[in-house]
Amino acid sequence: MTQSFSELNLAPALARAVADMGYETMTPIQAQAIPQVLTGRDVMGAAQTGTGKTAAFSLPLLQRLLRHENASTSPARHPVRALVLLPTRELADQVAEQIKLYAKHTQLRSTVVFGGMDMKPQTLELKKGVEVLVATPGRLLDHIEAKNCVLNQVEYVVLDEADRMLDIGFLPDLQRILSYLPKQRTTLLFSATFSPEIKRLANSYLQNPITVEVARSNATASTVEQHFYRVDDDDKRGVLRQILRERDLKQAFVFVNSKLGCARLARSLERDGLNTAALHGDKSQDERLKALDAFKQGNVNLLVCTDVAARGLDIKDVPAVFNFDIPFNAEDYVHRIGRTGRAGASGLAVSFVSGKDARLVGDIEKLLGKKLEIEAIELEAERRPSGRFNDGQRTWRDESAREPREPREPRAARPHPAPRAPRAPADPLFDQPYEAKAASDAPPAWETAQRSAAPRGLSPNIKTRRKVAALFKAPAPAPAENG
Ligand code: AMP
Repeated sequence: MTQSFSELNLAPALARAVADMGYETMTPIQAQAIPQVLTGRDVMGAAQTGTGKTAAFSLPLLQRLLRHENASTSPARHPVRALVLLPTRELADQVAEQIKLYAKHTQLRSTVVFGGMDMKPQTLELKKGVEVLVATPGRLLDHIEAKNCVLNQVEYVVLDEADRMLDIGFLPDLQRILSYLPKQRTTLLFSATFSPEIKRLANSYLQNPITVEVARSNATASTVEQHFYRVDDDDKRGVLRQILRERDLKQAFVFVNSKLGCARLARSLERDGLNTAALHGDKSQDERLKALDAFKQGNVNLLVCTDVAARGLDIKDVPAVFNFDIPFNAEDYVHRIGRTGRAGASGLAVSFVSGKDARLVGDIEKLLGKKLEIEAIELEAERRPSGRFNDGQRTWRDESAREPREPREPRAARPHPAPRAPRAPADPLFDQPYEAKAASDAPPAWETAQRSAAPRGLSPNIKTRRKVAALFKAPAPAPAENG
């Protein structure tokens, strides 16, 4: 099997782009899928994000589209030839940026459309003509209905993260979109799992597909150190801070099961003195991109997220993932901890198991095919928050740099924690319904920094997206770190 990109006979413009990215050796999914896609066959790929699957479909697709390459300024000469569908805005943005990088030495045009953004700039791009259109299903349908794009010359369709698209309920949208496309086309479907629903989708829309599979969907990377700690709900925040401190972790993803829980936890951690951002479906597009951007730049230490919002995000080198809540769906456990220990780097995955989680842990055991050890963890006594009260200490810092909020006696004089006087709840949001935008709250530091760094004169949507885009372009990763 071909292993090196140089053996693929890619067009010089594409080979140059691959070299610019610093890739020499293909990842397993690339080695399997690229030669198949180059022959024009339908492919069903079982691959999780982080395996290099974007290049696995983009490179051969661009290679086959090169015969349409032209420098004409007429939109009619640049009809949509390839459509790439993804479940979330972040994934669409991420994939579109990668495609732009691979196509940068060609004259093929690409763009991305997703919801939560003004349609006008997207419409202008579409009207100029693009060969490769990356989209989320709902927004694409809006553009189709507004007659902003014509899809009757589409030759390639990629259904990426297909399982998640079905989870979100995009099946009717997908069916409608596919009904607008020419019957004669190549269809590529990528999914982390091949559930019966995915197989049904493939049977309906793929013709005689070849299946490529790189890792079993229930495999977790051996480079991830996994711990399951028994922790009461009220102690979870304290234990989280303790582990961050003890392990000297600079950044982590913290997964929760609900949007409400996500917002609440992010606010509490922020008040604990940790730079935190929340990523969930109720956040505006602008807020989500800002959060991601800030995390990627290192301005945010903790990204508290729900599964849908975080699925597939290509953020490398996250040293740790915390399952603040055990996921309802065992497969999400695999997806979550796939954020750390990617491509050979070591990672830490910590799951907090409370009394009500026995069944969910059982589901994970079944999926992984092994018994999990639930460990006990001692929460340092003086840091233990009492009930829902903030312990008032700024943790996850050098002890020397720590500034207690109130004057305290020297430690030596207080061998045992003094009983606390009742305080006001540290986070009133615990006792109030979540409101997306609390006007009275000053924005966290990282948001202010983003604002002041933003270039003037562009619409907020465009500048943010470009800023994120620049990050995806940023340092070409060393080959050993990827795949
Ligand atoms: P994906 O699974 O497509 O999200 O890709 C995960 C990451 O691997 C992306 O950051 C890619 O830039 C990177 N990558 C893709 N192919 C290769 C390769 N052959 N060698 C090294 N890195 C790669």
